[in-house]
Amino acid sequence: MLDSLFDLGERLPPPRRRSRLGRAWNALGRDLAVDLGTANTLVFDRGHGVVLDQPSFAAIDVETGRFLAIGAEAKEMLGRAPEPIEVIRPLRSGVIGDFEAAQFLLREFLLRVHHRRRFVRPRVIVCVPSGVTQVERRAVEEAAFEAGARRVAIVSEPLAAAVGAGLPVEAARGSMVVDIGGGTTDVAVFVLGGTVANANAPVGGDALDQAVLAFCRKELGIAIGERAAERLKIVGGAAAPGVRNTLVEFLGRDAATGRPRTVRVHSDALAEGMAEPVGTIVDTAISVFERMPAEIVPDIAVRGITLTGGGALLAGLAVRMQREAGIPVHVDPEPLSCVVRGAGALLDRLPGGMGRRGME
Ligand code: ADP
Ligand code: MG
Repeated sequence: MLDSLFDLGERLPPPRRRSRLGRAWNALGRDLAVDLGTANTLVFDRGHGVVLDQPSFAAIDVETGRFLAIGAEAKEMLGRAPEPIEVIRPLRSGVIGDFEAAQFLLREFLLRVHHRRRFVRPRVIVCVPSGVTQVERRAVEEAAFEAGARRVAIVSEPLAAAVGAGLPVEAARGSMVVDIGGGTTDVAVFVLGGTVANANAPVGGDALDQAVLAFCRKELGIAIGERAAERLKIVGGAAAPGVRNTLVEFLGRDAATGRPRTVRVHSDALAEGMAEPVGTIVDTAISVFERMPAEIVPDIAVRGITLTGGGALLAGLAVRMQREAGIPVHVDPEPLSCVVRGAGALLDRLPGGMGRRGME
């Protein structure tokens, strides 16, 4: 039997009291939390904090099926690598599109921080996007075991994000988190350690990049790559016109002549280009109000909404959401690491034990 303590939608288990032997053993052991995100994978080591932060990318030679690179090295190759090298993102849309590659990523990242030779095998919490199926979770668990984990628990990302953002998820009053990742936007409301309402959309930072790319092609007549589109979004993008006043100059390929051309674009224009996916993100967040018990609405209205995930950093997004929802919206000071820090805090709730898989 695998440990899947914090199944999606389940309640948090009570804090555990550990035996002296259990505590001594745990001091020796190395517990890890992993955020297997659609854009970035982070690993948290209890006692050391965030020890790995890498893009969830893999470069594969499609002829031989061999993995050539992962993480930043693979992302670097995006849009540049010659055939037969392909750069893939196994979790791109919040589901595991490529099992083998996802397992490979998780295993390699875990091995980077945890060496097989270590005496004590770690207990590992893995956070997966909320759209992941049972079969996919099993694949993730399997990969963690292969990398040397002695126990594995799967936690839903919104719960970990809320814990990482310091929200009182176990309190009787409601807390609301909106986690905006690369591939998805996940919204959840927690009361007494359980989920009382949630919503999600397969729209996040990637959709914004695609919108920037399409805007450049259609409105500016210039072709750019995915990575350039992401950079443009970060340095000049905005969630609404008027929230930013930035003029960005960049180089691309003229769609008509095929030659390099330098163009300038203002954040207001980019905001218009990104309007549709931004609207979806905001609407998804607000839609959760209809689904939560009416009792909870005043809690959220007073405490506000907390934004996590890299998408929360989009200029003006919090301001726009606040305007549309009519209640306060806060961005966690370190939105990119909320999930992994939250999962790290949950490591203390894992059952102890020295056994291998299934034994306690
Ligand atoms: P995931 O959990 O899906 O791996 P992350 O929470 O790591 O995603 O967020 C990654 C997304 O955040 C990417 O789409 C990235 O472009 C976006 N992002 C990161 N920094 C910024 C920023 N300053 N402004 C806008 N978007 C950002
Ligand atoms: Mg995430």
